[in-house]
Amino acid sequence: MVARQARLNPSPCFHGMGISALRIRDRLIQRLRDEGIQNSRVLEVMREVPRHLFVEEALASRAYENTALPIGHGQTISQPYIVARMSELLLEHGPLDTVLEIGTGSGYQTAILAPLVNRLYSVERIAPLLEQAKLRLRELGRRNVRFKYSDGGVGLPEYAPFDAILVTAAPEGIPRALVYQLRMGGQMVLPVGSRDLQALVRVTRTEEGYEHEILERVMFVPLLGGVE
Ligand code: SAH
Repeated sequence: MVARQARLNPSPCFHGMGISALRIRDRLIQRLRDEGIQNSRVLEVMREVPRHLFVEEALASRAYENTALPIGHGQTISQPYIVARMSELLLEHGPLDTVLEIGTGSGYQTAILAPLVNRLYSVERIAPLLEQAKLRLRELGRRNVRFKYSDGGVGLPEYAPFDAILVTAAPEGIPRALVYQLRMGGQMVLPVGSRDLQALVRVTRTEEGYEHEILERVMFVPLLGGVE
């Protein structure tokens, strides 16, 4: 518990920030509340993590807008609302011990989720994105994350079972391999669908297989096979 408190200590992230920069972040948090995000720990971490460090300098002035932004290699950093929503959905049924994230990208979602869970594995198939994300997370002092360069479509069977799985790229259907890496009762939140029609889905592993809830319309890059 003490370690978790320490990770939430905002001082390293707020270091050197002016009042106007804090206001810009507060405005984003208000916007997330207005859009229905309620989990106060999620909101607290979203306020603390400097999103401008996760985008190229040329886009830094837009980092606190509630939009997805390009991060190179044809990929995007997720919209803050969706990062908050997916984190909130995963945490709804109590604390999480071991979590798998598929699609590290910029590492922004990783940085939000890490202080909210005990141990996080994050998988990415584009090596330069993974390397950059690792550096950012190290800079922020997130020490409970292990990064893996691999095809997340097959999960990480060697570290299963997971309490929760978060997928930040869209497969066309629910990947069975991932469902079976959840512990019984564990949950996976992911976008499912084609490039232009996707829904956010929460899957719960049950004795019979799995149940799923369709939550809202979303737009993610596709989950691709293999590594680059
Ligand atoms: N949450 C990230 C979103 C990045 S976009 C952020 O906020 O920055 C989705 C990421 O999923 C991309 O980096 C893409 O390369 C990655 N991805 C797509 N298919 C994958 C797969 N099969 N395994 C691992 N990562 C994958």
